[in-house]
Amino acid sequence: MRYISTRGGIKPVRFKDAVMMGLADDGGLLLPETIPAFSEAELESWRSCSYQELAFQIISRFTDDIPDEALKSLIVSSYKTFSHNEVTPVVSNGGLFILELFHGVTLAFKDVALQFLGNLFEYILKERNEKLTILGATSGDTGSAAIHGVRGKTGIQIFILHPEGKTSPVQALQMTSVLDPNVHNIAVDGTFDDCQDIVKALMGDLEFKQKYSLGAVNSINWARILAQTVYYVYAWLRVARQGQKVIFSVPTGNFGDIFAGYIAIKMGLPIEKLLMATNENNILTRFVNQGDYSIGKVVQTLSPSMDIQIASNFERYLFYLYQQDSGKISEAIAQLKKEGRISFSDVEMLQAGYDFMSASVDRAATLKTIGSFKNETGYLLDPHTAVGVCAARQLVKSDIPVICLATAHPAKFGEAVAEATGEAVPVPDVISRLSGLPTRCERMPADLGLVRSFIEKNVNTAAEKQK
Ligand SMILES: *Cc1c(COP(=O)(O)O)cnc(C)c1O
Repeated sequence: MRYISTRGGIKPVRFKDAVMMGLADDGGLLLPETIPAFSEAELESWRSCSYQELAFQIISRFTDDIPDEALKSLIVSSYKTFSHNEVTPVVSNGGLFILELFHGVTLAFKDVALQFLGNLFEYILKERNEKLTILGATSGDTGSAAIHGVRGKTGIQIFILHPEGKTSPVQALQMTSVLDPNVHNIAVDGTFDDCQDIVKALMGDLEFKQKYSLGAVNSINWARILAQTVYYVYAWLRVARQGQKVIFSVPTGNFGDIFAGYIAIKMGLPIEKLLMATNENNILTRFVNQGDYSIGKVVQTLSPSMDIQIASNFERYLFYLYQQDSGKISEAIAQLKKEGRISFSDVEMLQAGYDFMSASVDRAATLKTIGSFKNETGYLLDPHTAVGVCAARQLVKSDIPVICLATAHPAKFGEAVAEATGEAVPVPDVISRLSGLPTRCERMPADLGLVRSFIEKNVNTAAEKQK
């Protein structure tokens, strides 16, 4: 299995190199040269598989440079940290199926992929006797899941910038209470964009990037998408009869999670459509419904992990929409840079309407959905999940099974949930245990030079301590 770039500018690479490369060297995104399909009979034969066994069946089709036993053991250790023995269980509530993706250590779906990616990085680095410095900016969820994915791992140092006081208290504690010597939290006096700008500047400094082997953990990494494809198949096996089509409703920000579902379709999973649910940052909904892909201003919502305008993984979908024509991708990216929009032909919009349906859900509707779902069923939705549930109720009128991805535990965004229901949200142990824990975090102004010297100073001393 070899991987190519959406922009066509790299020689095909194998899986492990694709994982280490992250963003393709030509600025594009990596995709498998062909997508391995499974037959209906194979799918049926997986009904009794555990999550881990199924993960091996799916992931091994995309890797041919990791021995089976090693891959199995990477998968098993990745999902040992989950608090539910099914890893991603499906529950049925209010006429919908809910795929609970929040049983990992940081209570959001990003753990599913980042626990695996952390172990995969460590495996590859050991084999190659190399080191990696992960650098990232976070508004909350990605940073904590990434830190928990690589804490204590040999050969990896992680530096995560977050805006001081602008993540939720729980999110901040989930990051700063991790005291492993290879974990470095930087609280920046500024906004998420300030953090992001510093990270981009350091990543763009090729000398610095090479000297410290900088790597990224955002969802441009193919391994994250791949790990997420597994739970689409897992949920289908729990819900559907042989050959039966379902709809998945996916709260969407950076388009990583929903693209994993698109890969599942291409592999052969019977999916009628992917329902792309957005908050007020609705560029993707405008694209599906009106062919209007024009960048707006990012607004703050109750579902902060979806407050994104330019979804990086969308380029992966464009690659297929454009019949794998890299030249067209480059044209579209150029138009986006120049005009802040991409235009689509009628044929392309027909295809997009065949792949997706979409609705945008605002603050009032999100709160109303959390409240009414609680009243009807007793089940608490987090605000991200509520966006997906609300969109599904608006758009799906037939009795086709709908599986809503529950991307975060309600207690992780307890304030919004309490506002919606008028009651405090019960706090799970993993959260209550956090208060009072010792923390370690470096606070600094939004200054590129200071962040750079902090990294330089700490990469080596921390590696020494870890030995
Ligand atoms: C990251 C995140 C999302 C959005 O996922 P994408 O892959 O970026 O589309 C939705 N909900 C929660 C809770 C998240 O953390």
